[in-house]
Order: sequence, then structure tokens, then C-alpha cells
Amino acid sequence: MVDMDTIVSLCKRRGFIFQNSEIYGGIGSTWDYGPLGVEMKNNVKAAWWKAVVRNREDMVGLDAAILMHPRVWEASGHVQGFSDPLVDCKECKQRFRADQVFEVYAVSPDGKEEYFGGALAQDQGDALNQVRSKTPGKVKELEKKGFTWAVRQPMTDGYVAPKKCPLCGGELTESRQFNLMFKTFMGPVEEEAAVTYLRPETAQGIFANFKNVQMSSRKKVPFGIAQIGKSFRNEITPGNFTFRTREFEQMEIEFFVKPGTDEEWHKRWMDDRWNWYLNLGMTPERLRWREHGKDELAFYSKATSDIEYLFPFGWSELEGIANRTDYDLKRHMEYSGKDLSYFDETDNESFVPYVIEPSGGVDRATLAFLIDAYNEEEVRGEKRVVLKLNKDLAPIKAAVFPLKRNEPRIVEIAKNLAADLRQTFSAQYDDTGSIGKLYRRQDEIGTLWGITVDFQSLEDQTVTLRDRDTMEQIRVPIDGVKKMLVEKMGSC
Ligand SMILES: [Zn+2]
Repeated sequence: MVDMDTIVSLCKRRGFIFQNSEIYGGIGSTWDYGPLGVEMKNNVKAAWWKAVVRNREDMVGLDAAILMHPRVWEASGHVQGFSDPLVDCKECKQRFRADQVFEVYAVSPDGKEEYFGGALAQDQGDALNQVRSKTPGKVKELEKKGFTWAVRQPMTDGYVAPKKCPLCGGELTESRQFNLMFKTFMGPVEEEAAVTYLRPETAQGIFANFKNVQMSSRKKVPFGIAQIGKSFRNEITPGNFTFRTREFEQMEIEFFVKPGTDEEWHKRWMDDRWNWYLNLGMTPERLRWREHGKDELAFYSKATSDIEYLFPFGWSELEGIANRTDYDLKRHMEYSGKDLSYFDETDNESFVPYVIEPSGGVDRATLAFLIDAYNEEEVRGEKRVVLKLNKDLAPIKAAVFPLKRNEPRIVEIAKNLAADLRQTFSAQYDDTGSIGKLYRRQDEIGTLWGITVDFQSLEDQTVTLRDRDTMEQIRVPIDGVKKMLVEKMGSC
């Protein structure tokens, strides 16, 4: 699989993703989408919107504001409970999330455990590998004597806070809770009354609008509301490029169902969301389900299953599909004093709907699609880098090249063709290199087709059409190219 450095460098070189404020030295874990990145990210969002809103009868959209009434975050539980346990090392002064510190113990043949080392890790296997590789000689020696290893993740499994720094072995402070919401002030006076937060999730904008949407759209339960938008979490340990950032974009659905039908709807949404990734060309072997254990479920959640992707840094969450029960609506009823129950005319009864929530990250999905599409091939003894992006996701659909850029008749045809294609889908005109070089550059950004205008075009009004994946070239009449590509793409 491609490594992250290759992806990060391709993203920068070709204008998918830049470091934010780079001319000032950058700011931690904040990224900007460049000309190709914004096209691709928009395509990801459009594909999602089409699948979950436009193509369905039981879904509608919403675009709620980022700033909300501060009481929303009391009702949602974020003011009270949305925090991570933090510890500081008294010696090296590093700060960690206590629940990301792993401890490795050497277990003697008679079962005695002794602390051997610590690591900041993703999972137990990763922690063990890190610790083992630090002192391979000592590890070998102990294993010869029949020692085995136990890996503990403090803060989970009823275990306690870590005591030793995983980096230097120094003493750690007691863990304390750190709220992940970005606080801000509304209005000109920085007084407590005006404190509010940048939303840490888009979901609450949907819950707060449940009645507005239901009444105005005349939707009957079961139905859902979808929203795409920015959210903010002051993560202690962001990282892995755009995978975990403090400012990020979510694609969230809250699907309202009658209590008792929630488990069935949970399964249906799990299938739908899994298939969305596959339909957009993601490699099935790099996707898996991970069901949350009882100890990691939010207390109001009946069940949560994550779709994970095998990133170069390991299996990580793309999207979670949760059964949130009636927790959110009930909390908003309690805090707002408004009735958010639903009257079912068929059964002549009133209830507070249960909610199924498929919640995915736009940035994560975009990164996963980029990584998944990356291919290196050997073509006639040369390395070809090609992004085999799905047709709906490719930032540029077609590029038009003149065989000779100082031949006005060829240039004119090529420019006119590009201008015509651009009216229907994203297309480029490029004359900044030889045809071979231009193909290579377009392959690297996932452009579906290369179209070359040459001397034959002047005589018979045809052009060469090259397919990105097969590299096959055919002659096509100029006035038929657009129609042909539109047909190949289906509805983009
Ligand atoms: Zn330390």
C-alpha cells in the first residue's frame, strides 16, 4: 500500500491539499484544499447528497448554523461530558491523552507482572511493537526465559490512569478532564452571558429543527434529515494528515423511526452506507465493520458500528452508524420545554422517535478515496502513477491537448472543444508539455480522459480519445466527443 508521505507530497505538488498558513510556518493539523482538492471534496459531498437525499423519498436536507444557543450544548451533554482525560509528564513536559497511553508488562512464567515500557499507540498490537523495538536485546532475553507480554490501555477496561510517561519514563500528573469544544463570545462584550461554542457536531442542528422540518415538509416517520457542514473539536492529539483535525467537515444523517423498528432501520442504514463506499469504487478488502463494545458505547446508545478503512497508519474509522434511541429529542424537550413528540395518524398514537445516525467525515472519506485510488504501474519500462478515482469523484473529467501548440488551427480546435466540454463537466485545456508528459500529469490527478487534437483532426474532424485506466486510444468525431463522454459517465 502507498505510504502517507507519498500521498501528502502528491497532494501538495498537484494542488489537492496544502498546509494552512504555510507561509507563516503552518498551524497545527490545519489543512487547506487546493484547486483539485476542492473539486474532489465537492464531488464526495455531491455523491453523498445524491445517495442519501435526492435519490430517496424518505430524506430531506438541512443547513443549520455553526453557532447555536448555548443551552443546546447543555441539553446535548457536551458541556458536561464532552471531554478527554489529559495527563502531563512532569519531566519532559509533554501532554497526552491518558487513554492513548498503553502500558506493556512482562509476565514471568509463574505469572508475575512487571512494568516494562509504555507507548502512545493506536491499539495493543501497535503498542507492543513499539515497546519491543525499543530494546530488542532485552526482549529476546526475556522471551528465551519464557516471559510473555500483557498490554494494558489505561482508562479503559476499568483500568486506572497511567503513571509513567510513555516517552521518557518520567512521572505523570493526575489525569484531568479537558473539554473539547471551542469556546467563543457572541457580541462585543466578552461577558459570561455571551459565551457560546463552535459546534462539535452537526447533529444538534438537526435535532433542534426536528419539528420545523417535519411540519414544513409534511414528512411522516420514518424519515430522515441530512446535513453537511463544518464542526470543531479542540483535539489534544490530532494527526495523520487530514484524518484527525480540529476543524473538519461532517456528513450526518438523523433518521427518525418509531421505537421498536429502530434495530431493523439500524441494519438497513448499515447496509446502505457500506454500499455507498463500494459503489464509489472503494476496495472491499480495505473496508471492515467494527462494532463498539459495551464499555465504549455512549450511555444513551443502544448500538454503534463503525465502517473502518485500512489507512497506511492502520484500520481507522470512516463513519459510525449509531442507534441513539430517543435520548437527543428527549433532552431537548427537557431543556427547551417544547414538545418534540410525533403524532402517528395511522396508529393514532404519539411517541418520541428513536434516531439512527449515520455520521461520516468528509475529509476522511476524501483521504480514503485518494489513498484507495493511488496506483503505481509499469508501462513500457516506466513508472506510471495513476489515481483510479471513480468517475463521480475525479476532479477533472477530461483534458484536451493540442499536438502542436504553435499550430494555430490545432490550438483553435482544442481550445473550442475544451470550452464546449466545460459547459457540461470539468475539463481542462493544457499545452504545457509533450503529449506523453501531459497524459502522465493527468493520470496522476485521476483525469478520466485525454483528448488530443492533431493534424489528422484538420482533415477528418476527429480526435484521439484516451482512457485513463486502459490507456486505449480511439478516434472519435469532434462533434460526437461530448455526447459520448456524457453517456460513459452516466449522471454525474
Ligand atoms: Zn516524559
